[in-house]
Amino acid sequence: MMNENKRFMDPNIPDDMVASIRPKTLGDFIGHDVLKQNLSVFVSAARSRGEAMDHVLLYGPPGLGKTTLAHIVANELGTNFRATAAPMLTKQGDLAAILTALEPMDVLFIDEIHRLPTAIEEVLYSAMEDFKLDIMLGEGPTAKSVRIDLPPFTLVGATTRTGLLSNPLRDRFGIDLRLNFYPASDLAKIIIRSANILGTKIDENSAKMLAQSSRGTPRIANRLLKRARDFASAINKDYIDSDIIKTTLYQLHIDEVGLDEIDREYMTAIIKHYAGGPVGIDNLAAALSEPADTIEDVIEPYLMQLGFVQRTPRGRVVTESGYRHLGINK
Ligand code: ADP
Repeated sequence: MMNENKRFMDPNIPDDMVASIRPKTLGDFIGHDVLKQNLSVFVSAARSRGEAMDHVLLYGPPGLGKTTLAHIVANELGTNFRATAAPMLTKQGDLAAILTALEPMDVLFIDEIHRLPTAIEEVLYSAMEDFKLDIMLGEGPTAKSVRIDLPPFTLVGATTRTGLLSNPLRDRFGIDLRLNFYPASDLAKIIIRSANILGTKIDENSAKMLAQSSRGTPRIANRLLKRARDFASAINKDYIDSDIIKTTLYQLHIDEVGLDEIDREYMTAIIKHYAGGPVGIDNLAAALSEPADTIEDVIEPYLMQLGFVQRTPRGRVVTESGYRHLGINK
């Protein structure tokens, strides 16, 4: 069964290598120029006032640079970076422990922030708004509420879909940044930058080919680069050329626009079992044995971006160009 990990994480890449190709400054972060310009203004303003920067909400599909940007914000602000993910926060005390350990102006990154349980989300409201922590001590008639001062901090929340965030939480972010899929030209730059860091030679044309098949996603671009490097070393080549790229994509069953087996299975399921749609997400999840979340966060955004699939009020539909891409007659 495919899950997000299989496509987006790579157990063969040591953490230090992931860290080394992760951009550390806004200058190293490729693409998204307007977003970077704005962020740079907000960072400078907060620094010059000596205040914590306003809270930031980053949203967009996995692998587009949300965690990277959160690191960069802390780095550019010259503060500590603390990170957690919503599924790790199960009790109010978990969040309280993290908040009370912050130092003034720190950046706290909460990944998958849409998954916070309501009770914990409510603790976050006053923490974000007034830098106060309101928690209940004890239970039943002896329970009492206590208020603790927190140092000013910047919360950076990341989510794959803003629609999943409650309004009160969303309203408490002063800065709202959306990350879209990257154009192939930016992905080619990312591939060349990563290749330089990894000490791998790749020509510009091959970088562009690889970029075309990277689903608009830097994490996938970096992953494909590493696999191409493996296929090059398998035949004792010390550089990546177009033949290596073709072999890599062929072996990994990735087509020229970046679709892999699960994408094709998804579209084929709609066509074969539901006459091209519309079909509801839950039926589709059952047909593919994939969680609906994975389908919505990982598979569909890119297929919709390509115009192969549409979400309609009645369900998912494969478009004419989706049929054409699969070589199936409508
Ligand atoms: P997300 O948190 O959105 O899932 P990450 O921040 O973990 O994504 O990014 C995935 C990988 O892609 C990172 O390791 C980073 O090296 C690379 N990356 C992401 N965005 C960029 C960018 N704009 N420029 C260069 N590399 C990037």
